[in-house]
Amino acid sequence: MDCIFCKIIDGSIPSYKIYEDEKVLAFLDINPDYCGHTLVVPKKHYQDINDIPNDLLIYIFDVARKISNILIDKLHCDGISYTQNNGSIQEVKHFHLHIKPYYKGERNLSVEEVYNKINA
Ligand code: AMP
Ligand code: ZN
Repeated sequence: MDCIFCKIIDGSIPSYKIYEDEKVLAFLDINPDYCGHTLVVPKKHYQDINDIPNDLLIYIFDVARKISNILIDKLHCDGISYTQNNGSIQEVKHFHLHIKPYYKGERNLSVEEVYNKINA
């Protein structure tokens, strides 16, 4: 299967990983809407909200909550929204939850700079 997120999970495509466990991987979005924009993906390929099991969905939100606390701590964001696209607005057909930090002021850091701040 030609899935870019499966390739990130198996390591054949690099990513700015910020969290990993036996079930999920989280990495920085390469084309972020906001500084610290993160994607949480299950390691097993599921296409979308209709495909993914309920327990894994809850697990992904639990991980997203932990990552959000890291983003608050390291990037000092003022708010966070979660987005999950399906159907024609879903670009990558491997389930992923977007974590989108929000800032009151302007914040322009490259993905690499964000990665370094999170890992500092
Ligand atoms: P969507 O499927 O519309 O919910 O969004 C897919 C997201 O994946 C977009 O925000 C892309 O910028 C992001 N994306 C695509 N390829 C990569 C990649 N190789 N590494 C990190 N993020 C990616
Ligand atoms: Zn996949």
